[in-house]
Amino acid sequence: MAMNVKPIPTVDNEINEIRLGTADIINHDILPVEDKLWGAVSDSANAPNEVLEEAKQLRHEVQEKVKKTGLWAPHLPRDYGGMGLSFLQHAYMNEVLAYSPGAASLFGVVAPNSGNQKILVQYGTDEQKEKFLKPLVDGTAQSAFSMTEPDNAGSDPRSIQTRAVLDGDEWVINGHKWFTSNGHAADFFIVMCRTEDPDGAGGSNEKMTQIIVPKKTPGVNIVRGVPVWGKASSHCEIIYDNVRVPKSNQLGRTGTGHAAAQDRLGAGRIYHCMNSVGSMWRAFDLMVERSMTREVHGGEKLQEKQFIQGFIADSYMDIQSSRLMTIHCAEKMETGADPRTDISAIKIFVPAAYHRVVDRAIQVWGAAGVSGDLPLANMYLGARTLRIADGPDEVHRILIAKNVLRRYHAGESWDFGN
Ligand SMILES: Cc1cc2nc3c(=O)[nH]c(=O)nc-3n(C[C@H](O)[C@H](O)[C@H](O)COP(=O)(O)OP(=O)(O)OC[C@H]3O[C@@H](n4cnc5c(N)ncnc54)[C@H](O)[C@@H]3O)c2cc1C
Repeated sequence: MAMNVKPIPTVDNEINEIRLGTADIINHDILPVEDKLWGAVSDSANAPNEVLEEAKQLRHEVQEKVKKTGLWAPHLPRDYGGMGLSFLQHAYMNEVLAYSPGAASLFGVVAPNSGNQKILVQYGTDEQKEKFLKPLVDGTAQSAFSMTEPDNAGSDPRSIQTRAVLDGDEWVINGHKWFTSNGHAADFFIVMCRTEDPDGAGGSNEKMTQIIVPKKTPGVNIVRGVPVWGKASSHCEIIYDNVRVPKSNQLGRTGTGHAAAQDRLGAGRIYHCMNSVGSMWRAFDLMVERSMTREVHGGEKLQEKQFIQGFIADSYMDIQSSRLMTIHCAEKMETGADPRTDISAIKIFVPAAYHRVVDRAIQVWGAAGVSGDLPLANMYLGARTLRIADGPDEVHRILIAKNVLRRYHAGESWDFGN
């Protein structure tokens, strides 16, 4: 089933053109060959060479069309070969892009490279941009973001223990990280390090710095890809053992690592939520389509059964509420209002709604729902993972309550209109 995207009357023409152009490629160039596009990824161990070659060729053709249509790299400014979109434009594009799992990479957005590109654009020196950003944008280099540690709570970034100490003109880094996504392929890592004396003056947020570490630097030891959901992965465990890099590899001023991570994660959470909306949209279409064709007891279609009608109604409400909350949050981001409470709210609400919507779609499809023939099983695992990655639910609940209470303690109440 094609994605039904029509112009939205309340948004400007540019957003509508981007959404319609994106949907056109999704519907005509991606969905009809979706089962062939990822042959190399889904079963690379067994796929014959012709299948791998065909998949590569198909992806190349779609990427060329995306570039010609001017829809390449929505996250990057024009100076770096991107579309130069505003925050809101990009958010609206994501819900269409995410209808087909993996399609974002055909539009030049590949995590974690995309997040690293944005950080390099914002914090990188000219030299860093030339050496690390340019090859990342050209597609001749890969990268990873190395923050979480096995021995400390990732949900509290201030607990990070990886240390970087200055020795002359070099940072010397020692630490143990894991879940560094894309670690096997990466040519360099952006590593979150503690750079000040933990007992020194200043808050704990000002004691961290992000440092670029090329993979070939002596002392970078990739221990393993940590298996995820029972499968091998490229989320790597890494030991940094007396790793020496030039001082000029630090991103931004010393002590700005936490702020840079918040910049990255805050915006990223809104984009991820719009992606989840696009995935829910697909799961919804698949569920409704199946309910209209599958006959069960007594020759009736599933759509006649009230249990299934309940699934349709509940999923509709989950998608609409997720979408409106996320767009409201993106609008705040765009206008410069403080979006932090809303970011935490969508970070909890949307992955949970995504989980429910996909769960119902799987139920309606029965055994086919958990098979590799449909995108639902992978969506289900992705939705569950989202409740942990980028800050677990509990931490965001605490943040929402703190922000609300702070305002009431200051003698104000909450203005839900703003
Ligand atoms: C697939 C995947 C990819 C990832 N990719 C990357 C990456 O590329 N780079 C990177 O640096 N990291 C990455 N991560 C790590 C991710 O950011 C962390 O897993 C996340 O921040 C949570 O940290 P943690 O796993 O240490 O859990 P913990 O911090 O140990 O938390 C565990 C649980 O404790 C509970 N909890 C925590 N704090 C509180 C509290 N204050 N009150 C009540 N309950 C609480 C929550 O239920 C939470 O789920 C990835 C993770 C996954 C699963």
